[in-house]
Amino acid sequence: MSFFEKLGDHVEYFGQKSKKVIEDKANTLGQKSKEIVGIARLNIMITQLEIDLKDKYTKLGAIVYKSYREENLNTFTLEKLCHEIDVLTEGLDELNAKLDELQLKPICPKCGEKNMNQAIYCSFCGNLLPKKTEDNSDYIDLNKK
Ligand SMILES: [Zn+2]
Repeated sequence: MSFFEKLGDHVEYFGQKSKKVIEDKANTLGQKSKEIVGIARLNIMITQLEIDLKDKYTKLGAIVYKSYREENLNTFTLEKLCHEIDVLTEGLDELNAKLDELQLKPICPKCGEKNMNQAIYCSFCGNLLPKKTEDNSDYIDLNKK
């Protein structure tokens, strides 16, 4: 079996496993989303996560290349790194979603795209965006806990 066939098999195997981890995490995510974290703090966390993620990708690439050169796939390290990337990516998505909530980004009811603060019309489809009101579930009012 060639190195790349082995790698393909491994990625597929790992894909199945990581799917389960993500499903489990998604269940606990709902409870967490209510927490209010400051926008500045979120931005710092996001930046840090992005740096970590970039570092993991670099390491992953180095391992894959080393494995290719030595024709010996280090599946343990590869799997560990892939898992770490999954966790980081998921964390990043979660933080970005929270940031959107905090920044009161209006979501277009027609096309579902997120728009800039204070936008009146959707910049994607031109639809009139809903006004921010107390009972509008598209927005989260920071002054109200
Ligand atoms: Zn739209």
